[in-house]
Amino acid sequence: MGVVMGKDEKVNIPHLYMKLAMDLEKLRNYPWGMYSFDFLLKQIDKTRHKLEQNEGYLMEGFLFGFQIWIMEVVPALGEICGTKVNRNFTGPLYVEILGSRGVIDMGISNEATVAEDVLGVRRRRRHRTELLNAIESEMVAVKDRLRENVEDVSLWRRSSGFKDKFSTQETWILTRTSYAHIDWANNYGQGCEMYRVDVTCALCKNAAESRSHLFFECSYSSQIWENLMLDILRGSYTTDWNAIVALLKQSDRDKKRSFCLRYGFQTIIYVIWRERNKITHGESPLPMNAVKKLIDKGVRNKLSLLRSRGGKGTESALQYWVSTRT
Ligand SMILES: [Zn+2]
Repeated sequence: MGVVMGKDEKVNIPHLYMKLAMDLEKLRNYPWGMYSFDFLLKQIDKTRHKLEQNEGYLMEGFLFGFQIWIMEVVPALGEICGTKVNRNFTGPLYVEILGSRGVIDMGISNEATVAEDVLGVRRRRRHRTELLNAIESEMVAVKDRLRENVEDVSLWRRSSGFKDKFSTQETWILTRTSYAHIDWANNYGQGCEMYRVDVTCALCKNAAESRSHLFFECSYSSQIWENLMLDILRGSYTTDWNAIVALLKQSDRDKKRSFCLRYGFQTIIYVIWRERNKITHGESPLPMNAVKKLIDKGVRNKLSLLRSRGGKGTESALQYWVSTRT
């Protein structure tokens, strides 16, 4: 039994793929390589007229493959559009020639747009440290809770049978070999000891780094958290991790508030964690104001994307977020 994941809740999954997913032998033998190549060409043809649009464009297909190929064929492109990477850098070459919204997609349907939520699953990476994997799990779980506000029409396979609600996390687990579940909220401190890393907080250099310290007892991260969340949380404002998680789990009748709280939380965690890693790896951190702006922009982008897709309760969320910024 296979699983077909829709790219967007508003787009029908082609019948062919449902049939293919039911027969794994057929699925394996299907000429995906040829299909994907055709898909990529169609996408390039479709998108090339939009290259000059300032607000960006969406492109699907095997873009990394295409990027590497085009860089090989037209070496001058590297000089025009590329950014030189550090000579010591041994990772894969990534040159931004197709815009920041360029995405890789598995090439399943040529008429669909990629839903961010599903894309989120594909983008999920395996990290070398369990700690990072656990953070990804937590982010997926938050995303999953957000999905409950979206009306799905298809039936999704869940661990307890077919349900009309899609669970990113369960689908992720069902489509892959399962691994031990790590509740990072409980293991953060232990992880630090296990790997014997420097346990002093990289952000404030003033306390032992633990999950509770980083989110958001730390004098650095609490400033960011307060700046972005005080107006949303008001009376229930707290820097205590467990209390925050409890707030996130609560169902809020005020959808716009709920959206802002959850997206804000997700973005703040991500950006703080990234800053923390930058410092740990000897890079210089962004100034505090730049970090706040970055988070604000991230949440705005996410909310306007949601609004453009017409999600329930998202119309006023962006407006609400902006009103808490002033
Ligand atoms: Zn700190």
